[in-house]
Amino acid sequence: MPDGARQPRYTIIGAGPVGALMALMLARRGQSVRIIERRADPRRAPPERGRSINLALAARGLAALGHAGLAGRLLPEMTAMPGRMLHDLQGALQFLPYGQNEHEVIYAISRERLNRMLVEAVAEQPQIELRFNTRCTGLDPQAGSVQLRDEQTGVTVSEPFGILLAADGAGSPVRGALAARGLARVDERPLAHDYKELQIEAIERGAGAGGTAIATASGTGDSTGGYVFEPHALHIWPRGGFMLIALPNTDGSFTATLFLPRHGPQGFDQLEHGDAVRAFFDQQFADAAAAIPDLQRQFAQHPQSRLGTVYCDGWQAAGRVLLLGDAAHAIVPFHGQGLNCGFEDCRVLDGLLAASGQRAEALAEFERQRRPDTDAIAAMALENYVEMRDGVRSAQFAARRRLAAELERAFPGRFIPRYSMVMFHPEIPYAEAQRRGAQQERVLDRLAQRFGDDALQVATLAGARELLDAGGL
Ligand SMILES: Cc1cc2nc3c(=O)[nH]c(=O)nc-3n(C[C@H](O)[C@H](O)[C@H](O)COP(=O)(O)OP(=O)(O)OC[C@H]3O[C@@H](n4cnc5c(N)ncnc54)[C@H](O)[C@@H]3O)c2cc1C
Repeated sequence: MPDGARQPRYTIIGAGPVGALMALMLARRGQSVRIIERRADPRRAPPERGRSINLALAARGLAALGHAGLAGRLLPEMTAMPGRMLHDLQGALQFLPYGQNEHEVIYAISRERLNRMLVEAVAEQPQIELRFNTRCTGLDPQAGSVQLRDEQTGVTVSEPFGILLAADGAGSPVRGALAARGLARVDERPLAHDYKELQIEAIERGAGAGGTAIATASGTGDSTGGYVFEPHALHIWPRGGFMLIALPNTDGSFTATLFLPRHGPQGFDQLEHGDAVRAFFDQQFADAAAAIPDLQRQFAQHPQSRLGTVYCDGWQAAGRVLLLGDAAHAIVPFHGQGLNCGFEDCRVLDGLLAASGQRAEALAEFERQRRPDTDAIAAMALENYVEMRDGVRSAQFAARRRLAAELERAFPGRFIPRYSMVMFHPEIPYAEAQRRGAQQERVLDRLAQRFGDDALQVATLAGARELLDAGGL
C-alpha cells in the first residue's frame, strides 16, 4: 500500500474470474477494493497454459455477470451450444438438444478472453486497486494482516486488511493457511481420471467442404476460418469408461479434451508412445483423429492434468476472512458448473453483504446458505461424468429423455429435467435441483414400470399427475 494511502475495505486474493467479478460487484456498491494476483497482468502478458482453454457458461454464470452489468460485453465472444452432438464409433452423429425452449442454451467462451475482459472492467473502476505479480504467502486472520511477496523483486511485506476474500483457486494457499491454523478442515478427493487438451484447428478458407461460417451468440459472427464440426454444439465421443469432448472457439477451432483413467487397459499409462496414441484415436475417435494431423506431437507436449473435488469446512475465519469460488469448493468439470457456481457465489455474497451491516454475520451466513448448494453441485458433477461418457449412449437414456420432455410440456414448472434446473434455472438452488431431480427420477421409474419407458399416453399422464402430487412436486 502506498505511504499515506487509506487501507481499502476489501482485499481480494486472486484476479481470476471469481475474484475479478467479486471486486466489480463490490465497487458498484461504492466499496473500496484491492486485488492481489500472483500472475502478470493478462492485458499485457501472453496467457499462461494450464487449465481448460475454453469453458461453458450457463444461466447461473450469465445471471451473475448481468448483475455486474457485464453480460452485454461478453456476448460477441460466446458461441451458443443448444445441445450435445454425439459421435459414435462409426462416426455417425446424433444431436440431442439440451432443452425444449429457445433459452435453454449454453455458451462456449475462451477462458483467457473472459478473464482479460473482467480485468479490463476492473481496471475501469477507480475504487479498485489492481496489483499483479504479487503473491499472498500467508495471513493472520485474528490480527488482520497478510503477507505479500513481490514476484519480481522477491521482497515480502506484511499489510493490514479489513475483510479478505480468497478467490485463489482450487489449490488455495489461503485455505491452506486457515487449515494450518486449525480454522478450516479440508478434504481433497482426487478423481482417478485425468485430462489432456488437444487443439482441432479451423479449416483454412477455400480448403473445401465442411467449413461452416461462424456465428457467435450475438449473431455478429467472425470470419477467420471454418469449423470442421458443427459449431453450435458441445461434441461428445462417449466410450463407456472414458470420453473425448470438444467445445467451439470463435476462430473456427475447437478445443478437445480427452478424459481417461490414469491407469488400466484404456488409461493414459497405455499411451506413452506416439504410435499407440494414433492407433487409439483412429480406433476410438476416427473423425476427431482425422482433424488433428499433429496429434502425436500435441499429445506428447500438452500436460496431463488432475481433477478432483475439494470439500472444506470453515470457509470463514475471525469474521473477516472468507473463501469463495474454487478456493471453497472446487468440483470436477463434468456439469460445466465450476465457474458458474463461483460466479453465483459472488451474487449471493454481494447480496448478503449489501443486506447486512454486520460483515461477520454475512460471511458466516454465506457459508451456511451456500454449502448445501455447493455440496449438491459437487455430487451432481461427479454423476454427470457417468452420464456423459456412458449414459448418453443407451436406448433407455433416450427414452427417459423423451418421457421427461413430455412431462415438462404437460406440467410446466412442476416437472423440469434436473439438467435443465442446474443449467437454465438459476432461481432453483442446486440443492433443490438435486432433491427435485431425485423425486422426479422416482416418478420416471414408476411410470416406466407401469407403462413402459416410451411414448406418453393419456393413462401415463394421469399416472404422472398422481405421482407428482404424491411426491409434492
Ligand atoms: C478441464 C476443466 C474444464 C472446466 N470447464 C468448465 C466449464 O465448462 N464451465 C464452468 O463453469 N467451469 C468449468 N471449469 C471450472 C472453472 O475453471 C473453475 O471453477 C474456475 O476457474 C474457478 O475460478 P476461480 O476464480 O475461483 O479460480 P481460478 O480460476 O483458479 O483463479 C484463481 C486466481 O488466483 C490466483 N492465485 C492463486 N494463488 C495465489 C496467491 N497465493 N496469491 C495471489 N494470487 C493467487 C491465480 O493466479 C488465479 O488467477 C473447468 C475446470 C477444468 C479443470
